[in-house]
Amino acid sequence: MSLEEIYTRFCNHPRISTDSRNIVPDSLFFALKGPNFNGNTYADEALEKGAAFAIVDEAEYVSGPKTLLVPDALSCLQKLARHHRRQCQATVIALTGSNGKTTTKELILSVLERSYRTQATQGNLNNHIGVALTLLGLQKQTEMMIVEMGANHQREIAFLCELAEPDFGYITNYGKAHLEGFGGIEGVIKGKSEMYDYLRATGKTIFFNADDPIQREKLQGYDKTIGFSTTDPAHTIIKDLGADPYVKLKVDGNLIETSLSGAYNFSNCAIAVLIGNYFNVPFPEIRMGIESYVPENNRSQLLEVGKLQVLLDAYNANPSSMAAALKHLSGLEQTKKIAILGDMFELGEDAAIEHQSIADLASSLDLESLILVGKAFSRTTTDAHQFESFEELADYLKSHPISGPATVLIKASRGMALERLQDHL
Ligand code: ATP
Ligand code: MG
Repeated sequence: MSLEEIYTRFCNHPRISTDSRNIVPDSLFFALKGPNFNGNTYADEALEKGAAFAIVDEAEYVSGPKTLLVPDALSCLQKLARHHRRQCQATVIALTGSNGKTTTKELILSVLERSYRTQATQGNLNNHIGVALTLLGLQKQTEMMIVEMGANHQREIAFLCELAEPDFGYITNYGKAHLEGFGGIEGVIKGKSEMYDYLRATGKTIFFNADDPIQREKLQGYDKTIGFSTTDPAHTIIKDLGADPYVKLKVDGNLIETSLSGAYNFSNCAIAVLIGNYFNVPFPEIRMGIESYVPENNRSQLLEVGKLQVLLDAYNANPSSMAAALKHLSGLEQTKKIAILGDMFELGEDAAIEHQSIADLASSLDLESLILVGKAFSRTTTDAHQFESFEELADYLKSHPISGPATVLIKASRGMALERLQDHL
């Protein structure tokens, strides 16, 4: 069977497998490669387990009529994804940015699905493979599709846009994330803005945060934009009523209360309101969509542990989200404030400076106690309690339990898995 015939056979309802441990019956198995594996070596196993065809890219793994040799299995998967996206009618809204993509995606989904058949990226499947799999999951009857796009180097967002061909897009923010791959903050701005470049070049509409000076500057001279602002009446006004303890907003005199802690979540909610508005979702439905969204997976969760109020934001961290979380903590009133911060990864040569500047920022705030954990934080110069490893910190907490009532911010990069601290408080 030729590749074109395979496209035709599968394009109405693509069933895709990329992991031989988890084969979808009658699917196309794509032999992808990773740093530690070569999918080609699993092609036979995939067929034995029920895959209809295996797409391989190394001739020695062609074992019969059900294996198909292509020059590059990944690029074949991506082409099929674009082909499928073009077959579907859904309006595609793309999201990128340094922080808040997944939260924003969930909020927009929660709003739009009240009026439309809506799908969104599952979990965090936001890279060159994840976006392709997301598009291949697009159902024919879907009206709205929200696609999260992640990147850690230049040209990645441009490539993902060429794959998903979005009709609309939004950049959550430009922050100090993945500095290593992007080459500093200027590199981040350039790399994330590839989405705006794509949308401008194709004449598509851009949603934006009009209070963000970089976004404003990037969009100068382009008029297909829809923005929100807390103060500027040239845009949709959405008022920020603070986040103590949860984000609240006001739209046209109507209050929206959320279950999201963290002042930085204001813009994530505001864009969901703006997009709901744009697509004519009735206001009570928009409000319900946002109010019913409860974060999980250690993102901006607020937990009660004994007498402690824990701001568990241990899903991920980088200098800008750390600074945002610290700002939020320091803005809380009438509580004893404690921050437990763990290392931020992927900062390359900026790692030492960025950890020092977060340590300095945290020390300058009115905190009852500051605890820093990880190799990079333990090397900063500070008065804080410092620990090189999680285990040392856990030991320390055994003999020095944190006494409540107090609010404790827990934040670090994913690899630190600081959510484990919940059992040590
Ligand atoms: P990833 O790069 O892992 O996909 P993401 O961009 O999808 O991350 P989320 O998972 O939504 O982001 O949020 C991760 C963390 O980023 C949050 O827990 C919070 O600390 C921070 N964050 C969320 N929204 C913002 C924002 N608008 N500005 C700054 N920081 C934010
Ligand atoms: Mg994400």
